[in-house]
Amino acid sequence: MADGDKPRVGGKTGGDVDQAIWPPVDAFAAGLGGRCPRCGEGRLFSGFLSVGAECSNCRLDYGFADAGDGPAVFVILIIGFLVVGLALWMEVSMGPPLWVHFLLWIPLTLILSLTALRLIKGLLIALQYRNKAAEGKLDR
Ligand SMILES: [Zn+2]
Repeated sequence: MADGDKPRVGGKTGGDVDQAIWPPVDAFAAGLGGRCPRCGEGRLFSGFLSVGAECSNCRLDYGFADAGDGPAVFVILIIGFLVVGLALWMEVSMGPPLWVHFLLWIPLTLILSLTALRLIKGLLIALQYRNKAAEGKLDR
């Protein structure tokens, strides 16, 4: 492989500007797969929900990644809507005893929430990278 084929990696000398040239990566595929938003190869997470220090493939510094409360909000709204809707539907149509509700909805809520939390956090970080979203700064 010739040197010209390899993507150029921008060093930290460029300040906050990301100067690396990489082919565009689908933010949804990379984010939902927990992959690096720049190269789409390296792992984004070092733990279940903790973001690593940098990409193992392209050395992208993950210091910019801050999804904040975003993933939790989406999980509450989406999973809450789903589980409460299903629980209400089951109560109205079948009227099962209370222990059936507990047995069904508590484990389902936990599994769906934890799964969705990781997916949505990866997606939000990938979208944050693609759209260059960051905290506002004043130029003085
Ligand atoms: Zn990478």
